[in-house]
Amino acid sequence: MDVLGNVAEVREQIRQACEKVDRNPEDITIIGVTKYVTIDRAEALLNAGINNLAENRLEGFREKHEKLGYDVKWHFIGSLQSRKVKDMINDIDFLHSLDRKSLAKEINKRATKVIPCFVQVNASGEQSKHGLAVEDAVDFIKSLANFENIRVVGIMTMAPLVDEEQTIRNTFRKVKQLRDEVAAKQWAHAPCDFLSMGMSNDFTIAIEEGATHVRIGSSLVGSNQ
Ligand SMILES: *Cc1c(COP(=O)(O)O)cnc(C)c1O
Repeated sequence: MDVLGNVAEVREQIRQACEKVDRNPEDITIIGVTKYVTIDRAEALLNAGINNLAENRLEGFREKHEKLGYDVKWHFIGSLQSRKVKDMINDIDFLHSLDRKSLAKEINKRATKVIPCFVQVNASGEQSKHGLAVEDAVDFIKSLANFENIRVVGIMTMAPLVDEEQTIRNTFRKVKQLRDEVAAKQWAHAPCDFLSMGMSNDFTIAIEEGATHVRIGSSLVGSNQ
């Protein structure tokens, strides 16, 4: 597995996607998703200059967080049970899966610092996906104003599992509009500058539609080890 080569390839694809829509590649944060792989490959990613890493399960996060003593920025991208919040919330840099009030309450209670959170929306309506309905997101975000340990830095979504590019694009576009709508409100607790969308199969589309954070696993490190 040529992680260095993969990183170069992904960077080149990002550059091309940015060029298409006149964006600056420096405005895109690559998050290396290490959930499928062991420490060695996560280290290879760090050595290749990717220092934003993501896990979707508490166990995987704990293991890698303990062993990778580098300057890693940790993103938690999996759905999170409230009872697990206390075991990880102060060790992460970003949470991408804030999707309910009960979770927000628990984070607010357990956090000893302000936690930058992405509110996760389910823009495709697929049953299997977590996240709030797009229609409910603005009210939800507004309702977080009094949680002093939560800052809504952006919106996160996953595209539907379909082949039609236009369907994927429309989903991303809808979520970008939501992000813009929230940002325009200029709520102090919800700057909402960021947009976390795009994975290995669709990150170039996501960037064309405004993503600031792409979460890429298999294209960087493979999906088994
Ligand atoms: C696994 C995962 C990714 C990365 O998926 P790839 O297709 O391997 O790039 C991104 N986001 C979330 C929420 C994931 O669970």
